[in-house]
Amino acid sequence: MQDNIVIIGAGQAGAQVAQSLRQGDYKGPIRLIGEEPHLPYQRPPLSKKYLAGEVGTEGLLLRPPAFYDTQDIDFIPDTQVTDIDRAAKRIRLANGDTIDYGRLVLATGTKARPLSLPGSDLKGVLSLRAIADVNAIRDEIADKSELVIIGAGYIGLEVAAVAKALGKNVTVVEAQDRPMKRVVSPQVSDFFSQLHRNNGIQLLLDTGIEALVGNGQVSGVKLSTGATLPADLVLVAVGAAPNDELAADAGIETDNGILVDGAGQTSDPSVYAAGDCTRFYSNRYGRSVRMESVQNAIDQAKAVAESLLGQDVDYDPLPWFWSDQYDIKLQIAGLSDGYDDTITGGSISDNKFYVAYLKDGHLIAVDSVNSPRSHMMARRVIGEAWRDGLLPDA
Ligand SMILES: Cc1cc2nc3c(=O)[nH]c(=O)nc-3n(C[C@H](O)[C@H](O)[C@H](O)COP(=O)(O)OP(=O)(O)OC[C@H]3O[C@@H](n4cnc5c(N)ncnc54)[C@H](O)[C@@H]3O)c2cc1C
Repeated sequence: MQDNIVIIGAGQAGAQVAQSLRQGDYKGPIRLIGEEPHLPYQRPPLSKKYLAGEVGTEGLLLRPPAFYDTQDIDFIPDTQVTDIDRAAKRIRLANGDTIDYGRLVLATGTKARPLSLPGSDLKGVLSLRAIADVNAIRDEIADKSELVIIGAGYIGLEVAAVAKALGKNVTVVEAQDRPMKRVVSPQVSDFFSQLHRNNGIQLLLDTGIEALVGNGQVSGVKLSTGATLPADLVLVAVGAAPNDELAADAGIETDNGILVDGAGQTSDPSVYAAGDCTRFYSNRYGRSVRMESVQNAIDQAKAVAESLLGQDVDYDPLPWFWSDQYDIKLQIAGLSDGYDDTITGGSISDNKFYVAYLKDGHLIAVDSVNSPRSHMMARRVIGEAWRDGLLPDA
């Protein structure tokens, strides 16, 4: 299987596919095409140490620059792929050039979900997904004092923590009744609400947004309560949407994500996909899932590389995730939705505890706060229970 492999998207998953192919002794050509000007880099520090100015661009790189040469990976930066001609097995680039492929891997990630409200296009309304976005935020924030963050998910809350440390007045507005509602229990949400409020963040829950106001430059956020918050910078952090249009336009099956099987193969047997842009059926959870995590990007990319190398794989991971806010590390093992009971251990007042989620008496997920040991144990125990067929039906 030494045909010509082209990877679209040079992020966490794309870079991992290329590396794993070489580690698996694939000797054919590998082209890794990315629309950003940077070598493949990790995104988690963007809303943490990179925004805080504690690491530079070099510190984000997944592999040193020489890696791509020594591994004979043809890395093509700054280049957007605009079109896939599956019949001709050819892709088209934004500059009009074309590249032929034997097999194609889509690792196109996600984009920040836009806010479709009046005033969303005002200057000073930003989102965060890439290095360029953080550079823009850092440029803007320097001489501004009032930051409003829309969305109390992990990115919104991480940015709130960093901006507070930079001396900004920060308000986080969330439509739901608690932060990170999609992923954690009320107990964990309450802990983080308290944490942010204790650090001087104004956290408005159960609060909708009517409009962003300003004259060219944003100056306020009009709330559903009728009040208007002063704002000279607004971060929209309301989630991400998969970059699946390229696949959909080429007639590859998508459904809020590029549909792949356990081998990472799409509805076209010559086209594979990995990372945030995919959706796959999980036997573990009895439903289709789309994950946005480093764990999934790396592990699914490895699975795709194995498939490309001709091995049998059936990717169905135990998901895990982390978020850093102030000096608190939240680590999540498993998916907790559908739980019917929880057990809490450790000490919430000492900022070191865990919440274990049970379903029909079986452990399905654990959130650990400053407790890496319970996180690692949870991954092992849930993984073993799954392997031994001891998990409840989803
Ligand atoms: C601010 C932030 C903080 C995060 N923090 C955490 C964390 O703490 N823990 C965690 O587990 N996960 C975290 N994540 C999520 C994690 O970074 C992603 O799950 C991971 O990067 C997904 O990798 P990927 O390769 O699928 O996509 P990406 O890393 O997004 O890479 C996709 C690449 O494809 C490129 N691309 C898209 N379309 C095209 C095209 N047509 N042509 C060429 N190139 C294209 C994109 O520009 C991008 O560079 C965070 C993400 C963000 C944005």
